[in-house]
Amino acid sequence: MQQYDNFIGGEWVKGSSYFQNVNPSDVTDVVGDYAEASAEDVAAAVKAAVEALPEWASSTPQQRFQVLDAVGAEILARKEELGRLLSREEGKILAEGMGEVVRAGQIFKFFAGEALRLAGEHVPSVRPGVEVNVLREPVGVVGLITPWNFPIAIPAWKIAPALAYGNTVVLKPSEKAPASAWALTEMLSRADLPAGAFNLVMGQGQKVGEPLVTHPDVAAVSFTGSFAVGQRVAAACVQRQARVQLEMGGKNPLVVLDDADLDVAVACAINGAFYSTGQRCTASSRLIVTESIHDRFVERMVAHMQRLRVGDALDETTDIGPVIDEAQMSKNMHYIELAEKEGARRVFGGGRLQLDKNGYYMSPALFVDTTNDMRINREEVFGPVACVIRVRDYEEALAVANDTRFGLSAGICTTSLKHAHDFRQRVRAGLVMVNLPTAGVDYHVPFGGMKGSSYGPREQGAHAREFYTQIKTCYTKFA
Ligand code: NAD
Repeated sequence: MQQYDNFIGGEWVKGSSYFQNVNPSDVTDVVGDYAEASAEDVAAAVKAAVEALPEWASSTPQQRFQVLDAVGAEILARKEELGRLLSREEGKILAEGMGEVVRAGQIFKFFAGEALRLAGEHVPSVRPGVEVNVLREPVGVVGLITPWNFPIAIPAWKIAPALAYGNTVVLKPSEKAPASAWALTEMLSRADLPAGAFNLVMGQGQKVGEPLVTHPDVAAVSFTGSFAVGQRVAAACVQRQARVQLEMGGKNPLVVLDDADLDVAVACAINGAFYSTGQRCTASSRLIVTESIHDRFVERMVAHMQRLRVGDALDETTDIGPVIDEAQMSKNMHYIELAEKEGARRVFGGGRLQLDKNGYYMSPALFVDTTNDMRINREEVFGPVACVIRVRDYEEALAVANDTRFGLSAGICTTSLKHAHDFRQRVRAGLVMVNLPTAGVDYHVPFGGMKGSSYGPREQGAHAREFYTQIKTCYTKFA
């Protein structure tokens, strides 16, 4: 089996042990053996990033543009091969895998341009003869910790701005899907970067992520993952005054009003709840539906779900791929049992499937007769499980949508301009979708949530500079 090493200080570094990356569509297919970094490897990676910082921080915008543009172009040119790799290791279907790879390429290209556009401000002073310049500088060494569900796009949307603004990087991708991040690292290893400007350390969160988060020379940590781990990461960073940015879970509502176009509403709900096997932070897990449209909506959902084909992610006829692993499958099954105990009524799916291939397959599940205080509607499941909550009217729908500790994405299906406008203003979420699925975003605008979903400045778009740069205000008096 091919072994894939860590990348530290411009060199490929062997691990003292290796862990397997397994295809969730077929557990007999091992994608590769990946090096488990030690605490010493993490320290070496941070040291290399510290040493590379002066050179990369003083590089020209043109140099940064060229590095990021070349990586972006290579990602786009290899979209089929990388998309296949991504679907094989993560389990999202090929079209989604390739779409994610294209997104990663677009992100690198966008931040190539941002490197050229980074400007400070020249401000007239309130004092005569004095000039004020507000400069943006790199933050320093940044530690990036990423989850498995977008194994190339999330590393891309952290690495590209980090490098564009002159920081050096240590990336720790998820141990459940390291192949895409490794492929990206291989491209960066050939880029015109100083040795140590970009480093990859792979392995378990506690063994590899924690030493990175707690390292005194890591000036900033950008984390995407679960709420529980995010809390620990933030606590460790705040304690040593490191900058921190968290993107975490969701319990995203999709409101469907009586006046919605039913075709649009069902299409949004099916896409938002079940595509990518429901394993998206922006997935619609709470379908909040007003009374008059409720029964027609549920009937159409079930009819549509009967047509969804669950199977191998690499089979082009598949709509929904497998769950990532056995642990996630058990969690999904636990929540399905719990929902039934709480009094929810299962109208479709929710069973484990035995298919030709030995993978983690389940049929997408739809519950009705649920209330917003049930645990199934309060806790993130992170699987293809959605619950319908029946409400009287728009005001109750809005109140239910906001009654959650999360606030990542929120959607509404309606033909009423008044309600769409009001929802955009009053819903407490960082992303608001009108007649669109709660998942699916653009790459040139900010991404992030409110309340328990996010902490710190937004990611992506030009707003990414708020996290990856720090400000220096310079006063000059010309004698
Ligand atoms: P996770 O929290 O288990 O792991 C995320 C990363 O943190 C992994 O690389 C993991 O190894 C690492 N980690 C684990 N323990 C650590 C520790 N003690 N110190 C440092 N690092 C540690 O999350 P996951 O299962 O990989 O991803 C699923 C979660 O991610 C879901 O909650 C989902 O909603 C969330 N997510 C959020 C967004 C967003 O942008 N808001 C996007 C994708 C996924």
